[in-house]
Amino acid sequence: MPKTNPYAAGAAGRCPVCGEGFLFEGFLKVAPRCEACGYDLSRHETGDGAATFVILIAGALCAFGALFSMFAWNWPVWLLLVVWLPMTLLACLVLMRPAKGLMVAAQIANRASEAGRDDV
Ligand SMILES: [Zn+2]
Repeated sequence: MPKTNPYAAGAAGRCPVCGEGFLFEGFLKVAPRCEACGYDLSRHETGDGAATFVILIAGALCAFGALFSMFAWNWPVWLLLVVWLPMTLLACLVLMRPAKGLMVAAQIANRASEAGRDDV
């Protein structure tokens, strides 16, 4: 089995252990098992961790963009809303899957204490 970077594989939506199988079986649902190496992915639950980072990153980017548009180009409020609300939604959707993949990869790479323990 080739050595793979778990973070790059997770961000790309691949199994962080082997880098070949799919990490997700839907948009954000983690697959129960890697189809390539058979690793049990069902033990890794990220909760709201990825959403927290995505909200902070996308919120900062879009708030800066909206403020820049308002002060640099004097956009009216209706144009700010028409442009930046969909941009915020799009940024969240684009960032969410790689962020969740990174969170699962971090759990696997760092052998998170609760991951894989049946007594917790
Ligand atoms: Zn795998």
